[in-house]
Amino acid sequence: RCVMFDTAMRNGADRRHLVETALRDAIDHDTLLVRYQPIIELASGRVTGVEALARCRFRGEEMTPDEFIPIAEETGLIIPLGALVLRQACAQVAEWQRTIPGLEQLGVAVNRSARELMTEGSPLDVSAALTSSGLRPGDLCLEITESVLLKDGGASARALTEIRRLGVRIAVDDFGTGYSSLTYLKEFPVDILKIDRTFVWGLGPTVDDPGDLAIVAGVIDLAHAFGLTATAEGVETSAQLGRLKQLGCELAQGYFLGVPMTAEETTVWLVQAQSRVTPPARRSIGAQDDDGRRRVLVVDDDRSARTLLCLAFEGRDGFDVVAAASDGREAVALARHHRPDVVLLDLAMPGLGGLAALPLIRAVAPGADVIIVSSLDTGEVDRQLAASGARGFVAKGGDPERMHEAVMRILEGADDSLLVVAD
Ligand code: C2E
Ligand code: MG
Ligand code: MG
Repeated sequence: RCVMFDTAMRNGADRRHLVETALRDAIDHDTLLVRYQPIIELASGRVTGVEALARCRFRGEEMTPDEFIPIAEETGLIIPLGALVLRQACAQVAEWQRTIPGLEQLGVAVNRSARELMTEGSPLDVSAALTSSGLRPGDLCLEITESVLLKDGGASARALTEIRRLGVRIAVDDFGTGYSSLTYLKEFPVDILKIDRTFVWGLGPTVDDPGDLAIVAGVIDLAHAFGLTATAEGVETSAQLGRLKQLGCELAQGYFLGVPMTAEETTVWLVQAQSRVTPPARRSIGAQDDDGRRRVLVVDDDRSARTLLCLAFEGRDGFDVVAAASDGREAVALARHHRPDVVLLDLAMPGLGGLAALPLIRAVAPGADVIIVSSLDTGEVDRQLAASGARGFVAKGGDPERMHEAVMRILEGADDSLLVVAD
């Protein structure tokens, strides 16, 4: 007998072995990473949830699940891996619900593979993750692929029914790419159909691929006919988004709306998204503290600029400077503590810059009027600020008297438009 062997086979086997070792190591040492991708409601533009996506570091780089999930499934490592992702994601989303105003209903979608679903203790794992995080069952959605439903119909129906009895929702992921036996839509307890990204990519920008358009429209109609919600994956352009809206798709995710991010990045993203959807109520000029004085927080990394700003405002025209910060992080902490009425915010600072700090400041001090004080080119600032919710912009470097005047004019402005005051 003759057996052919080439080095590619060994390299493949070696790689699999190394990946398996890396996975085992990440599970044992709890260093598995979870990324979060926002899910948006198309009608309102609001973020309704995030999908948790696993990552594992291998030789200094992040592997994507397409490489390690199949190996995890074969080796059984998917069970501890899935449990870790589920626990971490539930805890993280419960924390966002508690800490970011307006996101009390934020949901989380977690992927489950066939092998996990069929495991004896699967519903127990789910309810344990809910209990330990305090997340409401209705805020968790498990995403399963069609193949799961076809593999062992009876057993998967039982597992799904048990999980759904907890109040957890079920989504069919990558809908349309498997065998697409539509029977299961009648028989399985499903809440959401996720339209696979390969179909979404066929939409726009100038003309739609007729086949993809028919499939996307068909899946959306099918979902509605069964009383289910449709979610589009892989939205990469505004044309795709527009088309999905026209077709009546409820939810969408994709790089155009938000890429998968670390928990820290997601926090900032969520806070920014919240401030875009619900700008804090504008306070009238008369709405100061009890004693009628406005409390100012000065933020600038440059010491002399900081001093200049403090001098321009302290004790004058009803302003009191309550604190000064030298970077964005300190600014957020001080804003949380002092709840200032006015924040004078520099943009270019080491560490957390003004633009990144702004939504966080607004989240912790929602009543504050934030005024950017910067030496950046005004056109650039104007563009950056259009959606940030700052009250106005004052060019830095001029005489303190004129900066004071400019801030007064912005605060007294009757309308909400950005007032750009060049020095
Ligand atoms: P999925 O559940 O369909 O996840 C969506 C995938 O599409 C993610 O890939 C995401 O990064 C990618 N994606 C999102 N928006 C766009 C876009 O606009 N353009 C493009 N080109 N791609 C986009 P990722 O993270 O590589 O995950 C791949 C698959 O791995 C997932 O597909 C899911 O089936 C599986 N997976 C991920 N995490 C887990 C997990 O914790 N457990 C299990 N069992 N499977 C997981
Ligand atoms: Mg998914
Ligand atoms: Mg998918």
